[in-house]
Amino acid sequence: MRLIRSQTKVIATIGPVSSSKEVLEKMFHEGVDVCRLNFSHGTHDDHLQVINNILELNQELNANVAILADLQGPKIRIGEVENNRVELIDCAEVLFVTEKCMGTAEKLYLSYKEFPRDVNVGDTILVDDGKMKLEAIETNGKDTVKARVIHGGFLSSKKGVNLPNTKISLPSLTEKDIEDVNFALDNNVDWIALSFVRSAEDLVQLKEIVRNKKKFARIIAKIEKPEAIDDIEAIIDASNGIMVARGDLGVEVPFDQVPLLQKDIVKRCVEKAKPVIIATQMLESMITNFRPTRAEANDVANAVLDGADAVMLSAETSAGKYPIESIAAMQKIIDWTEKGVAFNREALPVPGSRTFLPDSICLNACRMASQTNAKAIVTFTYSGYTAFKISSHRPQSDIFVFTRNKTLLRKMSLVWGVRAFYFDEHDNMDDAIQHSIDFLKEYKHIAEGDVVVHVGSTPFEEKGQTNMIKLSYV
Ligand code: PEP
Repeated sequence: MRLIRSQTKVIATIGPVSSSKEVLEKMFHEGVDVCRLNFSHGTHDDHLQVINNILELNQELNANVAILADLQGPKIRIGEVENNRVELIDCAEVLFVTEKCMGTAEKLYLSYKEFPRDVNVGDTILVDDGKMKLEAIETNGKDTVKARVIHGGFLSSKKGVNLPNTKISLPSLTEKDIEDVNFALDNNVDWIALSFVRSAEDLVQLKEIVRNKKKFARIIAKIEKPEAIDDIEAIIDASNGIMVARGDLGVEVPFDQVPLLQKDIVKRCVEKAKPVIIATQMLESMITNFRPTRAEANDVANAVLDGADAVMLSAETSAGKYPIESIAAMQKIIDWTEKGVAFNREALPVPGSRTFLPDSICLNACRMASQTNAKAIVTFTYSGYTAFKISSHRPQSDIFVFTRNKTLLRKMSLVWGVRAFYFDEHDNMDDAIQHSIDFLKEYKHIAEGDVVVHVGSTPFEEKGQTNMIKLSYV
């Protein structure tokens, strides 16, 4: 495993080309921090095999690679089409029907029963990642919508459909999602991402399922709908993390708006100490090529400069020709870019808020670390709160978390700059601090003479809110 890790984390989507233990192990060595299971594809048996492989490798390599379950959400698709290829001709008329049928160039099944009721004449219908565009010209309000092809093309079975102007009445969690969440929770995944979130309300049911099952998975809202942009503050507040899902986002909102939306969402998330992921097409050309384009290298570097917690690979690592090389390339871009940038973000604690004192401790620990050029900030935490908070200040020092909360260890792998370690109960703060120094020295994370900042809570046995900073030489 790489001893020196980057602060920006790498997420790899696992699929047919990367699910074997051999390939996963190579990915671990190249620097992957989080494995994403995409529940739009694969069976539960497939996912279980991957989960077991990751858990075995974590054990064998003494790693904490996290598992992120990504739910399909209310994705709308066309059905099967004749010979898996039909051509939509510019200006032709096509019927979208809600009764299952074999699709042709004149008639396509759409997996969205309420579409004829929800659609308005003039609404845009985008097919296959926006490659084809149609406009609704008539609806019977029951089971059929007539549309005109604006930009045609060749269409294969089960392609995704985006309806950027239509107020979609589908529930945020489908029956399939509920089965997938239960499976994911039974297997103790660390993070669960919900697709096509439209409002903070959409997260309520998922959070309830996690709570009722007494599990600790944290929730990521995928931002890919215009409605989500309108409710972004509330969605960030209601979730534990955010994914800028640029694939669908760039189809649902004009693509030219995506770069500034990315920057705005990252900024808001960092201010609120919520991890944020930049996803999709980061190294798209590496699905077939062994090296990225210059524009892709720029895109990854830009996400790093924006201050994202993690950058994500999709088809590059799940179905591409070069899954390992894609991780290596992404890591290389991150490593080089991080060398040339000083992050340091300051969000001031809010007087009177419940977390005013711990927030002040975290901010000032980072200020002290910067002033003393500290090698590391070490925090003792059970909930992870101080780790998220310290990370959000994007300090130059390494951030090490010591926790007796085993469910926190892998989760922290998604968070900017944070490395987490398990530690047993200690009776007092002095022992805990000494233990952390001995441990970090042994694994060469710190050395004699380095300045280290410790953050924790005293009296130690009371396990209260963070209230202490200690500054010392190793
Ligand atoms: C996206 O649309 O960018 C995304 C990450 O979602 P998915 O890969 O599930 O379509």
